[in-house]
Amino acid sequence: MPPGARQPADADPIVGIDLGTTNSLVAFCRPEGGGTPEILPDSAGRSLVPSVVRYGVGGTPEAVGAAARELAVEFPERTLHSVKRLMGRSRADAERTGDLAYLPYRVVEGPNRTARIELPPAGEGVGGRVLSPQEVSAVVLRALREQASAALGVPVRRAVVTVPAYFDDAQRQATRDAGRLAGLEVVRIVNEPTAAALAYGIGLGRRREETIAVFDLGGGTFDVSILRVTPRDAAAGGGGAADTDFFQVLATAGDTHLGGDDVDRLLVGLFASEISAQAGRELSFPPATRQALRRLAEQAKIRLSEQETASVRIDTGGGAAYERTVTRGEFERLIGPWADRALECCSRALRDARLKPGEVDRVVMVGGSTRIPLVRRRVGELFGAEPYTALNPDEVVALGAAVQGAILQGRLGDMLLLDVIPLSLGIETVGGAVAKIIMKNSTVPTQASEMFSTSVDGQTSIKLQVLQGEREMAADCRSLGTFHLAGIPPMPAGIPQVEVRFLIDANGVLNVSAFERRSGKRAALQVVPNHGLTREEVERIEAEALAHARDDMTRHRVADLVANAKLDAKWISDRLAKVGPKLELAYFVDLSRRVEELRALTARAEADWRSVDPNAFHRMKEDLDRASVRMHEVSIAESLREG
Ligand code: ADP
Ligand code: MG
Repeated sequence: MPPGARQPADADPIVGIDLGTTNSLVAFCRPEGGGTPEILPDSAGRSLVPSVVRYGVGGTPEAVGAAARELAVEFPERTLHSVKRLMGRSRADAERTGDLAYLPYRVVEGPNRTARIELPPAGEGVGGRVLSPQEVSAVVLRALREQASAALGVPVRRAVVTVPAYFDDAQRQATRDAGRLAGLEVVRIVNEPTAAALAYGIGLGRRREETIAVFDLGGGTFDVSILRVTPRDAAAGGGGAADTDFFQVLATAGDTHLGGDDVDRLLVGLFASEISAQAGRELSFPPATRQALRRLAEQAKIRLSEQETASVRIDTGGGAAYERTVTRGEFERLIGPWADRALECCSRALRDARLKPGEVDRVVMVGGSTRIPLVRRRVGELFGAEPYTALNPDEVVALGAAVQGAILQGRLGDMLLLDVIPLSLGIETVGGAVAKIIMKNSTVPTQASEMFSTSVDGQTSIKLQVLQGEREMAADCRSLGTFHLAGIPPMPAGIPQVEVRFLIDANGVLNVSAFERRSGKRAALQVVPNHGLTREEVERIEAEALAHARDDMTRHRVADLVANAKLDAKWISDRLAKVGPKLELAYFVDLSRRVEELRALTARAEADWRSVDPNAFHRMKEDLDRASVRMHEVSIAESLREG
């Protein structure tokens, strides 16, 4: 089908910017994207811009982002990071909260007691330049603006910028000023937790009141916010589509010195003490070595989010090495008290909001450290609900800022509102067919489950591919993701009982879980099915399904027949090998011939589904089943005699 008319490029787009302590990102909702925001990467394809600026000896910016961070250890006094900690604050205040202790550059007092950064002296008798945190942030924002302009092919002049919910007026004003210095009109300042919720579509329908918690655990800071979304008709004044004031912050809590960096330090401590023990004396580690240890620790931590173990190997000189495997269990014991600190903040926020954990409807996970399985588990346990993790936790704030930008541009009318599931959802089954589990046009929330089994003897792992679409074969549907149910004890094909459950909540987030009843093994995946889906796409997919309906049906039927015929042929020939000598020769020969014929037809069908007549295929399989009855009788009689 030829493409439709080209959408006119956006003349004056409003992008969304997450101006972070450690990393910053820019995102946008393209008009043709159906309301789905996307990250605008740099020319190298990187989405995160480290919030770091290196100044030259003369006091002008000389590198920003990854380039600045790479050489941070070499130029600690003029590589400025974490300036967000100083934005709009007095020096005294930043000192009181312990923020200065973490910054390797000089922080001095400027006009109105504000915190300013003093660069090292430029030369003999020449003082270092004094910068406001706004000026430094502006360099990062300018880099993001240029990145966005390049990605969109039009100059970007307007942005929604996010700030922590606890930012006061001075901190918000400083953020606006940073934008202005970067040549950006900050059309709206949005709270980070509100943006995270918007990214998941929370509040966009506004059909009911919802209470949500946003749990943001990054590298160096932790925030938890409790928000209330008011339904549209109940909100004071009603409001147009352009306001997000219907997100009310009920409470915030957190710790500005709690994050993934602490986990790295705990692992470094473990390694360092064991290396000392191995050496038989207390070793001191110079900064470069500590830095290398910290990198290894962070890598091990990240591996432990995916795997059960992570190994490190460190050359300790003289041909000796320190080798260590950390298990998930050991890691979780090590970081347990750290996780407790975050959980205690959650309890405090709940108390302040006068809520019980069970009164929170949803928990949204933000920040790289929420990938740690222990964190997800503990948060899920506290609130008694599966937290939202479907979107990338590093990106979710920027994505939500872009959604706010689209709302301000009056463009969310096109968004697929989540009252109904526009396309069916299911999983791939053996032979590449689709088992639909939730039918299109089901109203949300909804759930359904179905039982599946294995197709091969001794199979211990099942791959589950989650699909969206109306076609009958997996290859013609949109894949939403894959996961594995592993650790099933070996059993004959067809014996394991796997319950696959699809649960779509009111915000359209899909939780798929697979549970093997005999072994109790469980695995799950979370996705947002409507992300990236436009109305036009839904219509195209429906039209295609209609056009291919007859072919698709046949293909699905043949795929099912192939799977069943294989199991039958295997089952019967196994039996024949055992009880063959007990059968009349003519019957034995006839049955063997039928098995071979079915196998040949199955192979042909597998190679090309069009080459077989499904009715004839079905008949041949049924005939074989009927013909094998006598053999089964003999087989049963035989086994009784043996037993
Ligand atoms: P910030 O909000 O401070 O800018 P981020 O949200 O980008 O930080 O989170 C960065 C932190 O997330 C770092 O400590 C990093 O090590 C950690 N992190 C990133 N990916 C993973 C992972 N897969 N498992 C555990 N921690 C991770
Ligand atoms: Mg963050």
